[in-house]
Amino acid sequence: MSQVFNFSAGPAVLPKEVLQQAASEMLDWHGSGMSVMEMSHRGPEFISIYKQAEADLRELLQVPANYKILFMQGGGLGQNAIIPMNLAGRKPQSATIDFVHTGTWSGKSIKEAHRYANVNVAASSEAQRFTMVPPQESWKLSKDAAYLHICTNETIDGVEYNFVPEVQGDTPLVADMSSHILSRVVDVSRYGMIFAGAQKNIGPAGLTLVIVREDLLGHALSICPSAFHWNTVAEHESMFNTPPTYAIYIAGLVFAWLKRNGGVAAMEQRNIEKSRLLYQTLDIDDFYQNRVAKECRSRMNVPFFLRDQTLNEKFLAGAKARGLLQLKGHKSVGGMRASIYNAMPIEGVQALVDYLNEFAGR
Ligand code: PMP
Repeated sequence: MSQVFNFSAGPAVLPKEVLQQAASEMLDWHGSGMSVMEMSHRGPEFISIYKQAEADLRELLQVPANYKILFMQGGGLGQNAIIPMNLAGRKPQSATIDFVHTGTWSGKSIKEAHRYANVNVAASSEAQRFTMVPPQESWKLSKDAAYLHICTNETIDGVEYNFVPEVQGDTPLVADMSSHILSRVVDVSRYGMIFAGAQKNIGPAGLTLVIVREDLLGHALSICPSAFHWNTVAEHESMFNTPPTYAIYIAGLVFAWLKRNGGVAAMEQRNIEKSRLLYQTLDIDDFYQNRVAKECRSRMNVPFFLRDQTLNEKFLAGAKARGLLQLKGHKSVGGMRASIYNAMPIEGVQALVDYLNEFAGR
C-alpha cells in the first residue's frame, strides 16, 4: 500500500523523516561502523546520543534545572507501582495518595496504589461514564496526601484536562501524560512528577520518561527495587541498569524533528487545528457520536461511535481500503478511535474526514 495513515493509539505513528533517518543510519551510525543497537551504553557514541536527547527534551518542555529527566523502563503501568514506592515514604506514618478517577488509566493507577498506601479517590467521573473531568471545586482532597495523581489525557476515554489543578499545601502533583506529552505547552514547574510511556508521542515502546523534581527523590520505601529507585536512577544518569538504548536514540530523533518543526507550541497549534477538523465533522449530525463534554475532549485520542453499530465492520473495512488504519476502538468501550498524535499529518486527518463524510452519505 503506497500511502497509509495510521491512527493507532500506541505504539503509534512516528514521523516518516525519523524512520528514514533511522533506516539510513541503521548499519553505520555516523561513521562508527556500528548500529546504535550494538553500541555499549557507556561508550562515547551512545553517551552523545543520550546527552543530546536529554538536552533537546529539556529545551522542548522547558524543564527547570531542579528537575531530573530519567529514561526508565516498565511503562506507564510500571510507574503505577514505582511512583508510590518512591513517594509514599514522604508520609512515613500512614501515607494517603489522592487520585482523580477520569477513566481507564487513572483507574489502573488507583488499583495498583492500594498495594502501597491508603487511597483517597478525591473525585470521579465514573457516574458520567468518564465523559468529563470533574470540576476542581468538587474534589475532596486529603489534608496531607503523599501526592495527588491525575491522568491528564485518558487515552481510551478521550478525555483531556484543560487546566492544571491546584494542590493542598506542598502536595506534589503527579501526572500521567503518556498520551499527550509534547502535544501542548505545559508548565512543568506546576508538577512534582510527570511520566509518560514513549510509544505514543515520543518513540518506540520500551522507554518510559520520568521528569521529577529533585526534592522528591529521597523518599522511597525500602521495598523499592534499586533499578526503580528514582534517586539511584538519577545518580547514574539513567544508566544504573542498561537503558533501552535504541528507543532513546529514536526518541532523540523525534525530539530533533520537533525542534525543526517549531517545537511544542507549534505542535499545539497544529493539534488544535487537527482535532477541531475531526470533531467538527463528527458533530455535523448524529451519524457519528463523541460523548465527551466539549471542553474536555482530547486533542490526541478521539473515540467515536456509529449511530448504527451494525455498520462497524463495514466502516473499518472501507477505512482500511483507503489506507486509514487501526481505527477500531479499544475493546473495553467498542466503537472507533482515531489517535492523532504529533506525527499524524493534517493530510491524514483530512483523509479521515473525507471518508467519514463519504460513509455518512454526505
Ligand atoms: N497511561 C496511559 C494514559 C496510557 O495510555 C497507557 C497505555 N496506553 C498507559 C498508562 C500504560 O502504559 P504501558 O502499556 O506502557 O504500561
